[in-house]
Amino acid sequence: MSAQNVIGVDLGGTKILAGSMDGEGRVLDRREVPTPTGSQAELLEGIATTIEPLADAGIAALGFGIPSVIDRATGQALGSNNIPLEGVSLGELMSERFGVPAAVENDASVAALAEWRLGAGRGAEDMIMLTLGTGVGGGLVVGGALFRGWAELGHLVVVADGPPCQGNCTGRGHLEGVASGHAADRAAEKLWGEGATAELLVGRASEGDPAALEALSGIGHLLGAGIGSLVNIFGAELVIIGGGFGIAAAEFLFPAALEVASREVVLEPARVGLRIVKAELGSDAGVIGAGLLAFEAI
Ligand SMILES: [Zn+2]
Repeated sequence: MSAQNVIGVDLGGTKILAGSMDGEGRVLDRREVPTPTGSQAELLEGIATTIEPLADAGIAALGFGIPSVIDRATGQALGSNNIPLEGVSLGELMSERFGVPAAVENDASVAALAEWRLGAGRGAEDMIMLTLGTGVGGGLVVGGALFRGWAELGHLVVVADGPPCQGNCTGRGHLEGVASGHAADRAAEKLWGEGATAELLVGRASEGDPAALEALSGIGHLLGAGIGSLVNIFGAELVIIGGGFGIAAAEFLFPAALEVASREVVLEPARVGLRIVKAELGSDAGVIGAGLLAFEAI
C-alpha cells in the first residue's frame, strides 16, 4: 500500500467496517470489528484501533460515513442513531490522531456517493437513493453534486396518520414506518403470527404464496408513493434501492412501486423515463463511499 491510498470507514450501530482503497475505488484490505457503544470515549478508541493496522503502511486521507446528523459549520455530530457520538468532530479528532486530512458525512449520503460514482448511478446527473433496511435512509445527487443537507428521506410522510415510525421519531406513516424491513416484519406477523419476519415474507413470495406477494406489493405501493413525491421535488429519473430488505425484496416491490410512482410524477420526462434499480455495491457501499470522501479531502 502506498500513501496514494485512503481509508474509508463505515460506522454502524453494530459494526465498524474499515477498508483501504486505491484511486480506482478498489477495496484492498478490510477490517470489521463490533462497535463499542458503552461510551463515547470507548467508541472513539474503537474507531482508531480499527483504522491503525490499515494505516500503518501510509495513507493519504480518511473518510467516514456515520449514522449522524452533522453540523455543516463545525463538522460536529449533532446526534447519532444507535451510537454514543454527539458534540464532537470525528473528522478533526481522527485527522489529528493520524496526521492526514479526514472527511465525515452522513452514512446514507456516503452510500449514495458510492453508487453514484462507482455503482448503479454512474453517469447520472440527478439520482435518489433509498436504503431499505431495518430503517430507511436515503441520499441524493442533485445537479451533478452530492446533496449534503439534512436529507431524512426515510421520514417522508406517505400515509397521513399512518402507523407510527420507529425509534425516537414521533411521526406517523413515514416511509420508514411502512416500507422498511421492520414494516415487512410486521406484515409477516400479521399473516403468520408473532415471530414471523421479513425474511419469511420474501421467502414465501419467492415460492409464489399469494398472501406474501400481496403484502410485498402493498409495501411496494407505498414505496412508490414516496418515490413519486421525491421525484416531483428533485426531478431525478433514476431511483436506486439498496439495503438488505430492499435488495432481497426488489422483484416483489419494484413493479408496484414503479406503477404508483409513475402515476404520481408530474414532470413528463421523469414520468416517462423513470427507472427504479437495485444498488450494485452491496455492503461495500459504505466503505467505498467513505473512501471517495477521503479522496475529496486530499
Ligand atoms: Zn419517522
